Amino acid sequence: MSHGTALPLSPVSPGAGEGTRTHCPYCSLQCGMTLVGRRTTTVQPWAEFPVNEGALCRKGWSATGLLGHRERLTTPLVRDRATGEWSSATWDEALDLVASRIREVQAEHGPDGVAVFGGGGLTNEKAYQLGKFARVALGTSQIDYNGRWCMSSAASASTRAFGVDRGLPFPLADVEHADVVVLVGSNLAETMPPAARHLDRVRENGGQVVVIDPRRTATADRADVVLQPVPGTDLALALGVLHLLVAGGHVDDTYIAERTTGWEAVRDAVAAWWPERVERVTGVAAPELRALADLLASRERVMVLTARGAEQHAQGSDTVLAWIDVALALGMPGKEYAGYGCLTGQGNGQGGREHGQKADQLPGYRMIDDPAARAHVAAVWGVEPDSLPGKGRSAYELLDALGTPAGPRAMLVHGSNIVVSAPRATHVQERLESLDLLVVCDLVMSETAALADVVLPVTQWAEETGTMTNLEGRVILRQQARPVPDGVRSDLDVVAGLAQRLGSPIEFATDPEEVFAELGRASAGGKADYAGITYDRIRDEQGVFWPCPAPDHPGTPRLFADTFATPDGRARFHAVEHRGPAEVVDGDYPVHLTTGRVLAQYQSGAQTRRIGDLPDDGAFAEMHPLLANRLGVADGMPVTVATRRGEMRLPARVTTTIRPDTVFVPFHWLGVNRLVNDALDPASRMPEFKVCAARVVAA
Ligand code: SF4
Repeated sequence: MSHGTALPLSPVSPGAGEGTRTHCPYCSLQCGMTLVGRRTTTVQPWAEFPVNEGALCRKGWSATGLLGHRERLTTPLVRDRATGEWSSATWDEALDLVASRIREVQAEHGPDGVAVFGGGGLTNEKAYQLGKFARVALGTSQIDYNGRWCMSSAASASTRAFGVDRGLPFPLADVEHADVVVLVGSNLAETMPPAARHLDRVRENGGQVVVIDPRRTATADRADVVLQPVPGTDLALALGVLHLLVAGGHVDDTYIAERTTGWEAVRDAVAAWWPERVERVTGVAAPELRALADLLASRERVMVLTARGAEQHAQGSDTVLAWIDVALALGMPGKEYAGYGCLTGQGNGQGGREHGQKADQLPGYRMIDDPAARAHVAAVWGVEPDSLPGKGRSAYELLDALGTPAGPRAMLVHGSNIVVSAPRATHVQERLESLDLLVVCDLVMSETAALADVVLPVTQWAEETGTMTNLEGRVILRQQARPVPDGVRSDLDVVAGLAQRLGSPIEFATDPEEVFAELGRASAGGKADYAGITYDRIRDEQGVFWPCPAPDHPGTPRLFADTFATPDGRARFHAVEHRGPAEVVDGDYPVHLTTGRVLAQYQSGAQTRRIGDLPDDGAFAEMHPLLANRLGVADGMPVTVATRRGEMRLPARVTTTIRPDTVFVPFHWLGVNRLVNDALDPASRMPEFKVCAARVVAA
């Protein structure tokens, strides 16, 4: 068993020249890059990797800034709760302590007394081992991950409509061959800049780009049509588009008859969404809506892509279903260079939700309450199916239950900075502080690690090998380029070390390639089937698209050409209704608060805020001059943004690109997620990050 000493370097890709071919540590594009130098490492392009063709955003170019960073943790730390003092520990001392505390908690509160919280940035191997560790070594059902807050609404909707959830069911480059690309709630020019070149090529090829977003973002600057609906009304907009397509006789009757079910109920439901009603709800003028419907009806290949702006709502799943209905009515899913896709967010947001990190799942996108799935996975693991626990709580519900009489009393956190990224974060912090034991594995002393009893320093990106699955469903290989720093271990070592100390009935491998081979066996026959994928194939083929059930299978870049993954092979329409945000604006809280990202930062900022080459100006409140005038504030002046859950003070950023009734605050810094609403989507359990009612005053 490895214990995290310096691992041998992974070989450079055949024919790659100097350096190690790997991928950016951040977003779901997983741009290819070459790392050169073992001690002083620099980023060079990897021009042949098709997803980014050598391009990187500033986060990718500066990613090595965290290697050897002065704030990097290199020894396990134990906190004295009475004094708050940290002291160093050896790995054996730290793991012995954690294991003995876990045993105490479980002796008193049962297996579910201990929870595991994972992350969408973990490799597939780590996500898989965490799920197995929770179910076998801990015997707990209480495991979920922060990807629940990322694209779970799109995942839920795609599964219901198509029978499977893969962010994009086609390679990203297909985008540029579409006639119309509709982006609903995506600011990809800032969140994944190398992908924006595809939008430019759409237009060079004579196509059109439509951006739907309450803010006129950098992505809107590359669009032909820009609609700025009231936050939380994307669903009503989709219903209005579909109403006009039906009224104009523009639906594809042959496709609907041959490839779908459920159309009649949708057709009847959208009859009530005439343009003027949609205008009243969304703020999008009826003529603009008619122009959009006419555009979609007039083109052969229409592609609808959603992202967090549409999905992070208490009606996020239904919003995605409504836009899928639009794509299905036009006969697009399964057609070349057309269809529906979700632009996933976190680096391994896709793979992280396929292999057992979610409360309701087993590897291969199997459901944990399916007896056949339990039997298959248990056989791979060498345990009895009945020994596996059932479904646990979703991410926010798990955090909300921590420390309560019926909830877990201890939690292990891997790859997540919960205190910054959770909704209603002050409440979540109180729940974390109520635990008997909090263990955090991280690279640096994040805001969440600072609350822990034990912090375990783990490897990062360039120091480890493992697979990620990008937004296209392409399984790619992150190759180790640097030695592991002294005192640091992989999460795989942590899991194995704890499992052994807890008397696990099975051993946990620590070699990533060995873990991946086991993951392949566990996923075999599942929807996300990795059985035919190997590290060598990924190196040779620049990634392999799942499903790939056998070594001689080519992988599946495009889904749905002939059939959907439903029992009868047909896609499902869903009649959904617009309910609006869970919290509406009123006299006390008259402004919509929405949140999102900025170009130079990534997620909770635990990594990017520490990189000196990235600008870190802190959070700001973006608002329209009309709102600023009403408040009596000018650009740069301090304002207080308050909601029913808390308030924060930050500088105003005055711009005409946002709706006058909306204020935008980026979420990379501690603060705004303390203000957002924790209302959950009933299907995906996604919190409503993207809209709540707020009051803004001059500070
Ligand atoms: Fe590419 Fe995303 Fe990394 Fe930027 S953050 S370089 S877009 S993977």
